Amino acid sequence: SLELRDVSMAYVDIEVIREVSIDVEPGTTTCIIGPSGSGKSTLLRGVNRLHEPTSGDVLLAGESALKMKPERLRTRVGLVFQHFNLFPDHTALENVALALRNVKGMSKSESLRVAAARLDDVGLGERSDHRPRDLSGGQQQRVAIARALAMEPEVMLFDEATSALDPELVKGVLNLMAGLAQRGMTMLVVTHEMGFARKVADQVVFMDEGRVVEAGTPSQLFDAPQSPRLQRFLSEVL
Ligand code: ATP
Ligand code: MG
Repeated sequence: SLELRDVSMAYVDIEVIREVSIDVEPGTTTCIIGPSGSGKSTLLRGVNRLHEPTSGDVLLAGESALKMKPERLRTRVGLVFQHFNLFPDHTALENVALALRNVKGMSKSESLRVAAARLDDVGLGERSDHRPRDLSGGQQQRVAIARALAMEPEVMLFDEATSALDPELVKGVLNLMAGLAQRGMTMLVVTHEMGFARKVADQVVFMDEGRVVEAGTPSQLFDAPQSPRLQRFLSEVL
């Protein structure tokens, strides 16, 4: 499970995350929605400590993530960004295998075997020898997801994983994410894809100005939003 307890975060001395609490039960998916600048990316960066929370706690299976070594935390919590951050001069296979060697200390042969299996899982077995520039955006994003999954994380975080993709490539990546959710991955997903949130999420959290304004099931938030801010947000995006 992943538990955020009263997490606050700041850039220099400007507070941008204000006492956010979110519970992600094991094997469930929580989607975070909210306007630009509401703090969604900052919050995910706080969970795996690319930016340190100023107060509160993040619990991973009950253990404080803020007390772990960041390197260890990041093997247990995978993060997939909007931009894929692949090494341009390495093939898809090497991109995944390098992470396995560097982070998990695998031997070369084992890393290649596991990397090939993870690329197969995301439907890229045939393209494992392509470099990022010879893959579509959607395929590159699937390599990034395979790389994160290869670490065998307990939790996956996604930050607008499809918003840099051409429209016709979005569906493939969303389907892959939905498949992970269905197979019981614990996921915290920032998304503008309201259809995905409605269909896949067990819980939806609406954030505004660094706070959780409303949280509940998809039908509670989408069909019966309580706060005027969420009502306005939905009227603009749906
Ligand atoms: P979007 O939907 O546009 O991605 P977001 O909800 O992810 O937005 P954040 O990127 O987390 O929002 O930004 C939250 C707030 O923190 C905003 O007011 C933003 O201007 C500010 N902010 C983000 N990154 C930095 C930074 N590196 N330094 C200072 N302020 C920042
Ligand atoms: Mg963002």
